[in-house]
Amino acid sequence: MDLGIRGKRALVCASSKGLGRGCAAALAEAGVDLVMNARGAGALEAAAADIRAAHQVGVVTVAGDITTGAGRAAVLAHGPFDILVTNAGGPPPGLWSDWSREDFLRAIDANMLTPIALMQAVLPGMMAKGWGRVVNITSVSVKAPVAVLGLSNTARAGLTGFVAGTARQVASKGVTINNLLPGSHATDRAIALDGAVVRARGITMEEAIAERSATIPAGRYGTAAEFGATCAFLCSSHAGFIVGQNILLDGGATNATL
Ligand code: NAP
Repeated sequence: MDLGIRGKRALVCASSKGLGRGCAAALAEAGVDLVMNARGAGALEAAAADIRAAHQVGVVTVAGDITTGAGRAAVLAHGPFDILVTNAGGPPPGLWSDWSREDFLRAIDANMLTPIALMQAVLPGMMAKGWGRVVNITSVSVKAPVAVLGLSNTARAGLTGFVAGTARQVASKGVTINNLLPGSHATDRAIALDGAVVRARGITMEEAIAERSATIPAGRYGTAAEFGATCAFLCSSHAGFIVGQNILLDGGATNATL
């Protein structure tokens, strides 16, 4: 399917690896020029080189921390953008009783206030043009809390509320905002979370992965490529009537009728 977005320009945050990279690659395959970001310059340059070679699109790299004002200013200087994919690393696991006010503020800054600031920066330009797409990478924890990820449960719920209201205020200008909610995907983040289980329970990594896979009806983790393809469709010309939705990509793991 032609996604109808060839020649558009996208900012894909936190995209040197994992789900962000999957989104960047799928948009590039659809002919979208990219601004890619991550903190580590080495992996970022390598990912950008792979995507340029595979898809012959323009790729600008901006190394920096997207959760800081300076990091956001550096990427936004490369606008204007037709498409925004927000993403950042997830908060660390722990127990509800462990976290301090500072831990909550860090999580809220990274996983709620950063995507909100990016949307506030790009939405006016998109609305003036009469076309825009925003996809926020959030988490299954928005639909079903993950016990050890209370910081994620909390911060992402706030972002979800902002999107629910804002998406309906910009839709008449041809701008859509939607959230993609990953369940377990085979990325460094999943390996880090499985590693914590390995250390806590004295089991092997293979056992930790097999245990988690057994809780997923699809019987496996998702891939960054599958995730990216869904993101690219939400950014396509065909998806203009999908507004303010929270789309779960979890292999059926969330046991709910709706
Ligand atoms: P990942 O494989 O660890 O990749 C994270 C990417 O983001 C890397 O490119 C990393 O590069 C970049 N990054 C992290 N913090 C950043 C920052 N502050 N500024 C700029 N770039 C940053 O993670 P992932 O699995 O793709 O996860 C992406 C998001 O989805 C996370 O918020 C995660 O919590 C959420 N999620 C993932 C899963 C899953 O199963 N994978 C499930 C639910 C939710 P640098 O380290 O070089 O900056």
